Parts: sequence; structure tokens; C-alpha cells
Amino acid sequence: MSDCLFCKMVAGEIQPDIVLENEHVLAFRDVNPQAPTHILVIPRKHIASIDELDEADAPLLGQMFLAAGEVARQCGISASGYRTVLNCGNDGGQTVFHLHLHLLGGRAMHWPPG
Ligand code: 5GP
Ligand code: ZN
Repeated sequence: MSDCLFCKMVAGEIQPDIVLENEHVLAFRDVNPQAPTHILVIPRKHIASIDELDEADAPLLGQMFLAAGEVARQCGISASGYRTVLNCGNDGGQTVFHLHLHLLGGRAMHWPPG
């Protein structure tokens, strides 16, 4: 998707602060962090949102969570804990329509979320 911000990161046209990358996913620091550690894990493949997932994407979702766990260990927040968030659509607060998993840690989270 040529007009997608995160596809431009996957293509190397925009260089985010990458913390992990492999054949399936890219993980980088959120430009507007909501916690001391705030990382976005995205699939290399363009998928607009959870609503666009199909059966064949199931292993890719697993890779996103495996990467999130690896990044959490790398960032030293595994023991203290963290939150993962997947916003979907307008009411979900999604602003970038390329699937991304938020990994937030380094402080205690609140519940319910806003
Ligand atoms: P959403 O609101 O769609 O769940 O999350 C989108 C996230 O992307 C937001 O937390 C926002 O701060 C982040 N973001 C938007 N533009 C950029 C950018 O250019 N670089 C980085 N690293 N993060 C971005
Ligand atoms: Zn995209």
C-alpha cells in the first residue's frame, strides 16, 4: 500500500526507531509514547485492521505476539508486566490503518481503559 505510513516503514522509506525485525514483523518505538516503554509491533504484510483478518493470517498474529514477548524481555519489562493493545476502527481508537500491536510497560496500567 503506497499511501500507508507503516508500509513505508516496512519498505525502508521511513526509518522508525526499530527494536526488533524478522521475516514476519517489525517492532519500533511509538513516536508519541504513552508509557516509558511503548513499542508498536506490525506485520510486514499490509492488513488494515483486525476486521480485515482472514484465516490465513492466524500464524502471523502468533508471530506478532511472539515478537511482543521478545521485545518485552529485551526492554526489561517482562517481570514487572506490560499491556498489549490492538485498537480496531474508530470507536476502538485506531488512527493508523495497518494492523499494529501496542506494547506498553514501565508503569502500572489502569483499568478500565479510557
Ligand atoms: P492507533 O491509534 O492506530 O492504535 O495507534 C497508532 C500509533 O502510531 C499511535 O500510538 C501513534 O503515536 C503512532 N504513530 C503515528 N505516526 C507515527 C510515526 O510516524 N512514527 C511512529 N514511530 N509512530 C507513529
Ligand atoms: Zn500498510
